[in-house]
Amino acid sequence: MSKETLGETEYLSACLSQGLRDLSLSGETARKLVQLAGDLVCENEKYNLTAITSFEEIALLHFADSLSLSAFLPAGASLLDVGSGAGFPSLPLAAARPDLKITALDSTGKKTEWIAAEAGRLGLSNVTAVCGRAEEVLAPGNPLRESFDFVTARAVARLGVLCELCSAGVRQGGSFIAMKGSSAAGETAVMTKAKLATLSLSEPKTESFDLVRPETGERYGRTLLIFGKTGPLPPKYPRSFAKIKKSPLF
Ligand code: SAH
Repeated sequence: MSKETLGETEYLSACLSQGLRDLSLSGETARKLVQLAGDLVCENEKYNLTAITSFEEIALLHFADSLSLSAFLPAGASLLDVGSGAGFPSLPLAAARPDLKITALDSTGKKTEWIAAEAGRLGLSNVTAVCGRAEEVLAPGNPLRESFDFVTARAVARLGVLCELCSAGVRQGGSFIAMKGSSAAGETAVMTKAKLATLSLSEPKTESFDLVRPETGERYGRTLLIFGKTGPLPPKYPRSFAKIKKSPLF
């Protein structure tokens, strides 16, 4: 079962049918995702955007992984993707969920330029790319601070660092969803309720699932950690990136 035997759309559907809820792929979304995969492969030949380069790997490890978030995002929600890189999870979510209002934030201009250009090529009007550092863009006084229903981050930093950066983007009553692989259990082991409370975050709900490679049945464990935002974030957070890295809260 590879894309040669299945065709790209069917291969994509096979990746998405595993372990994920509430996501049916429309023809329009499938077409956009296949185009995104092709564009990513082309761009990658010029500029090294991502380490994952075959259609099969992009379909499973970028698209199915990114779209696992969809089940937890209600209609019309706003979402900030911190450290979106080449657009994950932002671009697949924007393609599959036109109702969402997505902001992709990255400190590297080449990456946010790619996301903006690709959103234009795919006709996605629900994603905006912002170039900047999370700790600066979400500092007190900035209009983006504590303004999003949801904030997410995939493959950006360890959990203690992410919680401090990402809490700054979530409105009261909203959620921060950390997308983690097999490191989730180790990273949550050092987290305490008291430390989370200093960042106005609740203890997370854990949603675990496997991405399954259609042709081999190989499984990749994934965990979404969903933290509720319980109140305003004290203005001293987020600290400078150097300080967060030197002495993370956990
Ligand atoms: N989320 C993407 C990219 C992961 S690579 C994916 O899963 O494929 C991590 C990205 O985070 C890089 O593009 C880097 O530029 C960005 N990044 C790291 N620290 C950041 C910060 N403090 N603010 C904004 N972007 C950051």
